[in-house]
This record gives sequence, structure tokens and C-alpha cells, in this order.
Amino acid sequence: MNQPSPLASWNGEVMPLSEVRVSVLDRAFLFGDAIYEALRVYEGRPFLLDEHMARLRRSLDQIRIETDVDHISRRILELLERQPVRDGLIYLQVTRGEAPRTHYFPANPTEPNELIYVSPLEDDPHAEHRKTGVGVVTFDDLRWKRCDIKSVNLLGNCLAAQAAREAGCAEAILVSADGTITEGSHTSLFGVRDGAVMTAPLARNILPGITRNLVVQLANRADIPIREEPLSRDRLPEVDELFLTGTTAEVLPVTRVDDRPVGSGQPGKVTCQIAAAYRGYVADWLAGDASPSS
Ligand code: PLP
Repeated sequence: MNQPSPLASWNGEVMPLSEVRVSVLDRAFLFGDAIYEALRVYEGRPFLLDEHMARLRRSLDQIRIETDVDHISRRILELLERQPVRDGLIYLQVTRGEAPRTHYFPANPTEPNELIYVSPLEDDPHAEHRKTGVGVVTFDDLRWKRCDIKSVNLLGNCLAAQAAREAGCAEAILVSADGTITEGSHTSLFGVRDGAVMTAPLARNILPGITRNLVVQLANRADIPIREEPLSRDRLPEVDELFLTGTTAEVLPVTRVDDRPVGSGQPGKVTCQIAAAYRGYVADWLAGDASPSS
């Protein structure tokens, strides 16, 4: 039997996702002129909702799409009421809207188009990977110079993710022309050396990952030294552990890079400590007593 189409909120109207129609003149279709977010649902509740809404607001401001995002959280909650999903993922996208095709913004401001939908994450593809660790490949960071904006222009990320898949790996880690490793194609990257955790500093060349931010706070709380400094490809052989973080990945140990083992070739001790802290944080939040900023 075919799965029923998930429900979507399309400019506030709830309908089956398969029935949403959008013009080919929407600027997201023509130019990738749109911003997106992806949020995790645990036990039917959107995780780190305020943090995702704050990043959405910032990304929209940066590319000058004018829309009030306050209603979006309400629409997410409404959609989850209409379509209860225990473990899942919320995807949302706001485009500059439909207009005759010109590179510059339309003279008459367009009405942004807004899509939200929720899908269940029943067979979490990473459940086993979190225990065993994953392999990654290195790949040129081909992306533009504003990777801090969560835009739907993801071709550089897609080419990298495809290279990883063809190599039988879970992710590609992106290497800039100067040899700096920025992040994964859809994850943030952390290294561990001599017990200290390192991750690229927040700048225009990486996305400010919501999970990255939580992991930095969890490491601080656990008194694990954390340094926001770039990792480089040349110094990869010196790291004892590597791990990825992201909304769907959560905390994912990396045990191989380009077929060379990382450290012992097993998920590392600090990585496992951080993964346990992440799970503990989610459990506390579900029980009603966790706050990311505390
Ligand atoms: N870096 C990139 C390029 C991403 O696309 C993502 C998520 O999509 C992340 C990092 C992880 O961000 P978050 O923890 O907010 O999911």
C-alpha cells in the first residue's frame, strides 16, 4: 500500500505535501533565492525550536527577504498537532517569491512563499553508525563565500555528499584551497587532540550549526577543553578522534578518513562522552528540565 503523503503547511494552508503547487517563476526555482531550516522532532516535540527560528531570521535578514518569522513556530506546532510524528524531521523553506525573471530583486516586493512539512524518521539511518562510527572522504570546498547563510544553494554540498556516497562513506568533509577543513557537506566537524576538542570558529565559511552550538555548551559544562580553531588537512593524522554533529546526525563518530583510520579506528572516548551528554540533554529536555543557554 502506498504511504499517504505527509501534510504540509503551504503559506499557512495545511494540505497534503503532494498537492502543493509552486510557480516555475518562483525565485527559489530560478536562482536558489531562498532560505531553509531543518529541525528534529523528538517524541512529537520540535527540538531547539527557538534556536532554529533565530538562525532562520538571521539568514533571511542577510539576503533581505522580508517576512515576519514569528508565525512560523506556531505553524510548526499546528502541523505537528494535525500530523503527530514521534521521531521526525521538520523541513521549512522561505523563498523570495514569484516574479518575472531578473537577477536583481523584483521592483515590486513579492510575497515570500513558505513551505513547512514534517516527515517521520522511523528507521534512523544513523542509529547503527553512532555505535560503530563512519568513514568520510575529503572533498574540495566548492561553495560560495557566505556559507553562514542557510540558503538552498547547495550544489557544492550535493556534489560532496555524492562523492561520499560513491566512496561508500557517510559524509564528505570539505577542504578549502588553503588546506583548512571547514565542515561536512551537511554536518559540523569536530576533532579531539590530547583530550581537547577543536572545531572551526564561527565565520562566513561555515554554517553556525545548532547542534555544534549545543555541543560546545555541553563540552564546557563537562569541563572538556574546547578550542574554536580551524582544523587542517595536513594535521589530520595528529588527531586522536573526529566526530560530526548535525540535526539528523546528532553526534556521529568518524573512524576513517579517505580509508585511513582515525586514532585507534574506533569511536573515541571524548566523542562517546559528548554523545552521551547530547542524549542526556535531550532526555532532560523531554522531561522538562533542560535549557541550552544555562
Ligand atoms: N553544516 C552544514 C553545511 C549543514 O548543512 C548542516 C545542516 O544541515 C550543518 C552543518 C549542521 O547544522 P545543524 O546542527 O544546525 O543541523
